[in-house]
Amino acid sequence: MCAAHANVQPNIAPPPDLSRLCIHTVTTRPWSLDEAIAHYALAGVSGITVWRDALAGDEPRAAGQRIRAAGLAPVSLCRGGFFPARAAGDRAAAIDDNRRAIDVAAALGAPLLVLVPGADPGQPLDVSRGQIREGIEAVLPHALAAGVRLGVEPLHPMYAATRSAINTLRQANELCEALDSPWLGAVVDVYHLWWDPDLGREIARAGAAGRLWAFHISDWVTPTDILTDRALMGEGCIPIRQIRGWMERAGFDGYHEVEIFSTRRWTQEQRAYLREIVAAYLAHS
Ligand code: ZN
Repeated sequence: MCAAHANVQPNIAPPPDLSRLCIHTVTTRPWSLDEAIAHYALAGVSGITVWRDALAGDEPRAAGQRIRAAGLAPVSLCRGGFFPARAAGDRAAAIDDNRRAIDVAAALGAPLLVLVPGADPGQPLDVSRGQIREGIEAVLPHALAAGVRLGVEPLHPMYAATRSAINTLRQANELCEALDSPWLGAVVDVYHLWWDPDLGREIARAGAAGRLWAFHISDWVTPTDILTDRALMGEGCIPIRQIRGWMERAGFDGYHEVEIFSTRRWTQEQRAYLREIVAAYLAHS
């Protein structure tokens, strides 16, 4: 075969499948929302989860239109929650803030608001858990009216003092079962839940109830500073593919959302970082 003929042979390698890849704006925090939209779209990313600080005074309806015009899906809004507080006035303010977040998600066109449940170190965990339940119960009618689902995200127990009194998927499942609303489900973040020996069983339980609504991925390195030291998929010890398999067997067919807080990565040139994210997603997720 002559060289000219060889040049027209079709490339038989299938294109990389990025149809389920979503990135959280916080992952590339140095970028504005519009920079994130443009670069994600250019890289072939399919979805974007918008953090409220990325909107920064932006009109959410217009932001949602720009997201869709770029060919991206607005996957969810992060984040609401933080319901517990010793003072009743603070709990009422949190409920108001969650209603506003639901309105922002609806205007953005995001079908899901992620709830970080919250905790107050000045009171017992079970009191905080009761207040989480009351807070969610108070905002569920607003979620229903707006057509926005609420996803409870359990956080790693290291966050139990200040960020979440809900630390396992079992707790999230029990909360969802107690409130029994089609607008309330669970968010599985591998960073927070990978260590739990019951994780596979609880993912199946959430899936059987139709409450498996989001899947966040990153990796856990050691040593770690816990808050802003998450790693790219494949750099740490989380069995992401095993957990993804549990999710898929439980019926989950949504996005794989890359959510990485990393002071080190935020200082990196973000376009090169985005290329690394896509490569790590394809190789390890
Ligand atoms: Zn998450």
